[in-house]
Amino acid sequence: MAFYCHRCGTPLPPGARFCSTCGTVVNAVPGAGRALQRPRVGRVLAGVCIGLAQANGWDINLVRILTVLAALFSGGLVAVAYLAAWVGIPEEPAEAVSAYPPKI
Ligand SMILES: [Zn+2]
Repeated sequence: MAFYCHRCGTPLPPGARFCSTCGTVVNAVPGAGRALQRPRVGRVLAGVCIGLAQANGWDINLVRILTVLAALFSGGLVAVAYLAAWVGIPEEPAEAVSAYPPKI
């Protein structure tokens, strides 16, 4: 997963806690603590899973696998919840896409 310093835009390795270029403290989990919204980049269907994963610091692959399994074994309940989340979770603003990664 691409992970950039929010201050200078330097690409950072996963799990980095400090930017190696400017020394800014960054989140240990990439994207953790973001507002709950559906990202425009990296989504598979509607971006619900990646939105939830980024807002809570969860592993995106784990969230997707559990969502698919739950949808299959819940008799459609989770599928309905997914559709509700699709409608209810706001989409990421368009300007955020052009800001990441920032041009150097
Ligand atoms: Zn930096």
